[in-house]
Amino acid sequence: QAPLLPLYTLAKTIINKRKFAMSSMRPHRLFVSLISILILVSCGSEPAKFADVDSQRLLNAAATPEEWLTYGGTYDEQRHSGLDQINTGNVAQLGVAWTYDLATERGVESTPIVVDGVMYVTSAWSVVYALDAQTGRELWLYNPDVDKAVGAKACCDVVNRGVAVWKSKVYVGVIDGRLEALDAATGELVWSKVTVDQSKPYTITGAPRVVKGKVLIGNGGAELGVRGYISAYSAETGDLVWRFYTVPNPNKQPDGEVSDSALKDIGNLTWGDEGAWTTDGGGGTVWDSIVYDEVNDSVIFGVGNGSPWNRDHRDAGKGDNLFLSSIVSVDAATGAYKWHFQTTPGDNWDYTATQTIILADLPMGVEGASRRVAMQAPKNGFFYIVDATTGEYLSGEAYVPQNWAEGLDENGRPIENPEARYGDTPFMQNPGPLGAHNWQPMAFNPELKLVYIPAQEIPDYYATDRLFEARSQKWNTGTDLAAGLPMDLDLATALALRATLKGRLIAWDPIAQEARWSVEHSNAWNGGVLSTAGGLVFQGRLEGDFAAYNAATGAKLWSQNVKSGAASGPGTYEIDGQQYVTITTGWGSAYALAGGSAYDQPVPPIVGKVVTFKLGAKGAIPDPDLVMALRTPKADKFGDQAMIQLGFDKYHFNCRVCHGPLAISSGVLPDLRWSPISANVDVWQSIVLGGVLSAKGMVSFADALSPAEAEAIRAYVIKQAHDGAALEAEVAALMAAQGATP
Ligand code: CA
Repeated sequence: QAPLLPLYTLAKTIINKRKFAMSSMRPHRLFVSLISILILVSCGSEPAKFADVDSQRLLNAAATPEEWLTYGGTYDEQRHSGLDQINTGNVAQLGVAWTYDLATERGVESTPIVVDGVMYVTSAWSVVYALDAQTGRELWLYNPDVDKAVGAKACCDVVNRGVAVWKSKVYVGVIDGRLEALDAATGELVWSKVTVDQSKPYTITGAPRVVKGKVLIGNGGAELGVRGYISAYSAETGDLVWRFYTVPNPNKQPDGEVSDSALKDIGNLTWGDEGAWTTDGGGGTVWDSIVYDEVNDSVIFGVGNGSPWNRDHRDAGKGDNLFLSSIVSVDAATGAYKWHFQTTPGDNWDYTATQTIILADLPMGVEGASRRVAMQAPKNGFFYIVDATTGEYLSGEAYVPQNWAEGLDENGRPIENPEARYGDTPFMQNPGPLGAHNWQPMAFNPELKLVYIPAQEIPDYYATDRLFEARSQKWNTGTDLAAGLPMDLDLATALALRATLKGRLIAWDPIAQEARWSVEHSNAWNGGVLSTAGGLVFQGRLEGDFAAYNAATGAKLWSQNVKSGAASGPGTYEIDGQQYVTITTGWGSAYALAGGSAYDQPVPPIVGKVVTFKLGAKGAIPDPDLVMALRTPKADKFGDQAMIQLGFDKYHFNCRVCHGPLAISSGVLPDLRWSPISANVDVWQSIVLGGVLSAKGMVSFADALSPAEAEAIRAYVIKQAHDGAALEAEVAALMAAQGATP
């Protein structure tokens, strides 16, 4: 029986296919919107106020757990709710109260905000929804109508992690770099500001935060090549108040921004004068964690990886390159630098320090006195605790098996394994660029003093790209994106790849710096976490299982198949004495695009949902519309070995990050092997080089590929189709022999 499960999951990988006509949803949704507005107007049952949130309410959020007022629940972003109506004794009775279709097949990473009875949530392409939090009834929908060509700039799918609310407005960061304020009652646009140079490959996926009337927002884009920063805008007017750049500009000259002095005195000294900024910027994007430390009146944020990833191509001076991969603290009012702690000096591996930052009071002071700390489990695999007031390193320990460092020295600096500074020979490293922990939010239970980490082991090969030349608007990592991948994928190789991947929910004791318990998952990529005073930890999984665990022991107490990817941070709230637990679902994000399917079984692309639970409810989640069938190549094989090798290389440098390694897509974007486009050289060239599908996000690669190279990619894709079809037939025959059906 042992081989059956991997065979089954592999078969699902290969055979899953699904049809869904999203375009037909839009008029219907508009109609529903109009109807709900009419209902609201006619029966007068609308809430008395919408997002009536000020500093007092935000500072008091931990004491009002019936609402979920900001991305991480409170300013400390512990994602721990004081609600305990749902608890270890009764969680088994949890059922579906309502679901709401987000009408997208792309990735969903949104944490719902719930305030004054209304849920504000986002989905792909930065669409915002206001729902009745008790029933799921739609109150309004706002679509920022993003040009779909922007999708090509998004390293990790066109996702959005949620909104912020403040004084009757809802704030959303739009994937094309806009920051927008909406009327919380109607969804009408109040103001819109472009926060980035839109000629460069910036994107926004993170949730804004509001601190004392300022909206804080960062951006992403360091895979393609941008210069990172965080900005504070007036919540009322949208005027820029301050901006902090995380890395120097190419001339190390002042920007006229508040970061100037910190760069002059600290940052500039850690960058060489030549060879740096081979892209549009050195990276260091602030794409996720931003917390407000009310005790020190600081904004503490996480800074991303270097651009390009490969330091040899970024900075010939081989410096630490501050403030890459760092936790940085600034004054909340002015943005003035306070302190930093760098997790990965001289980042070489896409080791962002943008992961969840949690503020807490731990007995780590003199003689066990309480000390205010910031905690993070960044991509590099080490769990860090630093003093929130000074940035002093307090402790750190690896939370996953890793092979890039011997450990940390007394200052928290990694003692590197020299092999990790890779060269021409591919080095298999754990963690790989997807990290030991990615954007999925972690949580902290202040009573049990345990941090719950969605951890993953997704090793990858790193090797230098000797021919690297930065390309505008394209991926610029300076690494060989084909390194270590097999030219031919047979069943044994596929299963061996699959076996290298692990995911687990870890209950981490931050004081002892060790795991108290952990739960193994069948999929490496696992979901964000919610902790509650009911003694529970909630976590979803990519394959659709949403579960509750005993927070003290890890015992699984309840689960429900939500029938789509469930990787978002769950939330909880209470209305009229009834506690609800909610999660957004959908299929997509970085793992699905860049690595999901070749290594792991995907969830088929299913329309994203908000799924909300309460005790005793009996609602159902409809089954996805799956079509299971063996697939066939659309053309005969062609090309000699040299042509296919060229296609293999060019595919992985140009196409892998969206269409999947080995030309195997997870289903978010088209699997080129089965696409009729692959059958015809003229159609193929018109898309790949001519850009005729750029309005759908498939921009022209004419600046990166010659016609002969595009044709070599087609030869490789067709070869992979034939190999894939043979593999499917082999798996189907093996499964039939074992009496299983896909
Ligand atoms: Ca990155």
